Amino acid sequence: MKKDNRNTWRAATRAIHCGEEKHGIGAPVTTPIVRTSTFTFSSTAEMKRWAEGRSKAYIYTRYGNPTLTVAEEKVAALEGAEAAVVTASGMAAISSALLAVLKSGDEVIATRQLYGGSYRSLRDILPRFGIRVHFVENDLAGMERLLNKNTRVLYTESPTNPTLRLVDLRKAAAFARRHGLVSIVDNTFATPVLQRPLALGFDIAVHSATKYLGGHSDLIAGAVAGNEKYMAEVRKMVIYLGGSMDPEVGFLLIRGIKTLELRVERQCKNAMVVAKFLERHPRVARVHYPGLKSHPDHALAKKQMSGFGSMLAFDMKGGIGAARRVCDRVRVFLLAASLGGVESLVVLPIYTSHYKMSAKELAGAGVSPGTVRVSVGLEDPRDLIDDLKQALA
Ligand SMILES: *Cc1c(COP(=O)(O)O)cnc(C)c1O
Repeated sequence: MKKDNRNTWRAATRAIHCGEEKHGIGAPVTTPIVRTSTFTFSSTAEMKRWAEGRSKAYIYTRYGNPTLTVAEEKVAALEGAEAAVVTASGMAAISSALLAVLKSGDEVIATRQLYGGSYRSLRDILPRFGIRVHFVENDLAGMERLLNKNTRVLYTESPTNPTLRLVDLRKAAAFARRHGLVSIVDNTFATPVLQRPLALGFDIAVHSATKYLGGHSDLIAGAVAGNEKYMAEVRKMVIYLGGSMDPEVGFLLIRGIKTLELRVERQCKNAMVVAKFLERHPRVARVHYPGLKSHPDHALAKKQMSGFGSMLAFDMKGGIGAARRVCDRVRVFLLAASLGGVESLVVLPIYTSHYKMSAKELAGAGVSPGTVRVSVGLEDPRDLIDDLKQALA
């Protein structure tokens, strides 16, 4: 199977076959877990070639491993990227991508509505290394004024947690390109099935592969995708800072990716059913789902995504008490953080991602004490609705 075939394959085919060449006699159909920390050389001459950068041989699993290479080729193919690097977690992917392109004295412009871990590392960790970070709102207003000769990176995320607001990715990427910034976007919520940031002009896409790419709530993983030049720098960061993936996880990630499109399509359908049910319910004040006409970014979502995803949130009339009662009463939905798995989950942002935030910060994020975030899974939607009905009664 020639590697360049992948350019003509559709996404579902790429997810299943990219990175895996399975046309030999007696070859295993699935990718084996190459459970080894280190790899042999046939001679000192081969070792010397490697040391001189003239051979791409595997040497040590933190540097690369055949199982991980397969996962990387799949992520690259799905994102339409030249290359990808898989990492030990989404946070390892994000920190490796940022540190690959930043140095002391540089400045970052980032949208404020980010995953909590990303927000806190931009706000608290990067400044310790002399990197200044400016935050803007999702509408990107005021970005021009923050530019100076040290501005190096534009970092964003869309859709956002938990109110599913969107950033206009084409506009953000064009701004970055115009001013010579490296643009990085967290594509975890949308997945490459629904949104392809590199095609919209972004340089780098990062993922918490813990979520939809893995898809079964059984691993912690991350991925970065972009051109060869950036990915070589990202790999250097993974090698020297140590956020490399374990091959066992690589195997599970490969298995997850093979059903990504199928899962996401069904999860989108389920989420629409749940969102419409909640929108009609008298105890619910508001539903945040980009697939609903009432969502402020519905038109942008139709333009920039090929589906609306399976994350949503709703605000209970009656605030925190009512929201807690729903979360304590569900029997199909599980009360847990994280998202993107086959199981439907509910969580209260004020006790998780938005814990300890002031009323003003909560308002800025569009979160109320009665907001319940939902990750819609793959159960029969009728059971999800029955469960919500009894929990809301
Ligand atoms: C979960 C998540 C992360 C962090 O990923 P980990 O795999 O938990 O390290 C980053 N971004 C988004 C949008 C997430 O949902």
